[in-house]
Amino acid sequence: MILCNPANLDEKIKAFSAFGDTGKGGVTRFSLSPEALAARAEFRKRMEAIGAAVVTDDMANLYATLPGTEDLPAIAAGSHLDSVRQGGNFDGVLGVLSAMEALETIALAKVPHRHPLTAVVWTNEEGARFEPAMMSSGVICGKFDKQKMLASVAKDRPGYTFGEALEASGYMGDEANRLSPEKYAAMLELHIEQGPVLEAEGYDIGVVDGVCGMINFEFTFLGQADHAGTTPMKYRKDALYAAVKVIQHLHDELDRFDPALVYTTGKISAHPNIHTIIPDEVRFTLDARHYDPAVIRQVLSVIRSLPDEVARCKVSYAEAWSRKSVAFDEALVSMVDRSAQACGYSRLRMHSGPGHDAQYVADILPTAMIFVPSVEGHSHCELEYTLTEACAKGVNVLMETLLEIDRALS
Ligand SMILES: [Zn+2]
Repeated sequence: MILCNPANLDEKIKAFSAFGDTGKGGVTRFSLSPEALAARAEFRKRMEAIGAAVVTDDMANLYATLPGTEDLPAIAAGSHLDSVRQGGNFDGVLGVLSAMEALETIALAKVPHRHPLTAVVWTNEEGARFEPAMMSSGVICGKFDKQKMLASVAKDRPGYTFGEALEASGYMGDEANRLSPEKYAAMLELHIEQGPVLEAEGYDIGVVDGVCGMINFEFTFLGQADHAGTTPMKYRKDALYAAVKVIQHLHDELDRFDPALVYTTGKISAHPNIHTIIPDEVRFTLDARHYDPAVIRQVLSVIRSLPDEVARCKVSYAEAWSRKSVAFDEALVSMVDRSAQACGYSRLRMHSGPGHDAQYVADILPTAMIFVPSVEGHSHCELEYTLTEACAKGVNVLMETLLEIDRALS
């Protein structure tokens, strides 16, 4: 079995952490920003140096391909180089660096492979500057309308569209270069777990068999704005108090379901949000995730059984958006599992809570994911960290799986 050199991987992690360095242990590297373009240029330079041919498609997704010994579809691995504001040095970028490290190790050791091997960089996974997240994998996998995506406006620059940023980047390529079932046989995405489970339970590798489905609802409570000093409690229609009662009720009910269910109220607003006025309009969100659609249906039944009125305030709700669970290709998931076993690593089969480009690619190609542990589960922040040794184990599993796919597929 061939193994990567952790020192080489460490050098890559450090080199790429310079692109958008916040000076506090993290990066801000929005998609197609100067920092992201510098990271892309580095990717291109390094991949060309090992003999890979680099092309881009019409959404600026980047593909660096090492030729195989036979005329066969390519096997891809990759992730994204963009980050959230003050994000970490591992989310996304580690999936790209792992693919680079795997291809570099294979190329330098002259390991024979029949299929071409491709390292992929997906454009705008985070959606931090241009919404939505997973935009470009979504376009090429038929999830989003391309023209609508090109019209997405930057959150920090009025009127500036994703299409203009794409044009200005110099990375807009040919639609014919898109990842497609005709030209590609499979895709793997290595990613940090972004949660605490692997580290806390002492596993080296997460064998990811799918992505959890989720629902996101917005609740609205309408009361009456009145003076905080003159209105006796029994006459009040306090929308915030009503909202709090419902949040508590949701927790009490949802906690009775499967413990793998996760749910969050991450956004709340109160109007007029002045300390001398009883709130008349309060909104909050509920994000709920589970792999089993039956559990999501249980959550829906709790929402639908809410009364129209709580604490004399009107209650309404609407689904903001939702996504179905995605199951990865079982044969590929088993290959990841066997590769991890062959490397001698402890492993846990798990689902992904967050969304990833791989979940869209799974619609058009056999796809699977590999997770490596996140120290203390931190992610989307500057504390995000994974030990180089732990990352290197992920690379070894990725590399072994790529070569296993190469052997297994005709
Ligand atoms: Zn990511």
